[in-house]
Amino acid sequence: MHDSNCHIPDCKAKPYAPAGTRSVCKDHFLNFLTWRRRRGPQMFHKYAAMTMDERDTIAAEWQKTLRLDEVPTASKANL
Ligand SMILES: [Zn+2]
Repeated sequence: MHDSNCHIPDCKAKPYAPAGTRSVCKDHFLNFLTWRRRRGPQMFHKYAAMTMDERDTIAAEWQKTLRLDEVPTASKANL
């Protein structure tokens, strides 16, 4: 079972590293890392000790924040 694309919807980049049981591209993986780091060292250690299924829950939580955080650069260019 191999993902050919990043797991994030609308992202066509190549998978780079796993976020839970899915693979995400490098940019999204780094974003995921930053997000976990922002939530403190406890989250980091907790995540490391989690099973893949539990990591999926965290990854899903992170994905919800993606849409909120993302400011499309295209809308800026139209100003
Ligand atoms: Zn991606």
